[in-house]
Amino acid sequence: MKGFFLCLLIQVFFSSPEPVSQNHGKGYIDVAQADTSLGVLILVNKNHKLAEAYRPHDLIPIDNKYNRGVMNLLRKQAAAAFEEMCRSAAADNIILWNRSAYRSDTVQVELFENAVMRRGLKDAEQFSARPGHSEHQTGLAVDINSVHQSFGNSEEAAWLRKHAHLFGFIKRYPKTKEKITGYHYEPWHYRYVGVSAAKYIHKNQITLEEYHEIIGKQTSIPSR
Ligand SMILES: [Zn+2]
Repeated sequence: MKGFFLCLLIQVFFSSPEPVSQNHGKGYIDVAQADTSLGVLILVNKNHKLAEAYRPHDLIPIDNKYNRGVMNLLRKQAAAAFEEMCRSAAADNIILWNRSAYRSDTVQVELFENAVMRRGLKDAEQFSARPGHSEHQTGLAVDINSVHQSFGNSEEAAWLRKHAHLFGFIKRYPKTKEKITGYHYEPWHYRYVGVSAAKYIHKNQITLEEYHEIIGKQTSIPSR
């Protein structure tokens, strides 16, 4: 009996803790409500969840010129910035278009369940978000052109890496930051955060998670 308790104690104290964003089978652990008062700086990830019914109040369709997706809505400010970015890219002979933007909670349920069916839960967690945890529900995220890893080698992706921050967009899931973001590299997924935050994030090569940590330590949050 003594041995059993000793074993239990050893297990409790010495088993390696799960990373915070690790899946538990039923959901994520250490989940907080996403702070919608942060406006375009809102953080939604495996640890920050949107309410089921959350739907931004100012969603508008992206100009058809720059859209080929069924899910073509973005928040007003993000849509305008996206169109401006596409116009500027076109002037450099780079054709950008929306493939998938705002997604409701209901759509995300289907996508996640589909991903689990195709690839199994563990794999699906690396590229598909659980409902409430998808940035696409914020109306501030956009998948551009292609959702294949090879997009990362295209001239369109190179253009985005160089210019997106000037329009307020950041590459949300960079290659070397998978442990922080919780997702595999996605060269097509861009997130609108506003020009000043995007420039800071781009210049310092950090993620939105790291940016929030930095601004959280400051007394006031820079421009939203
Ligand atoms: Zn995406």
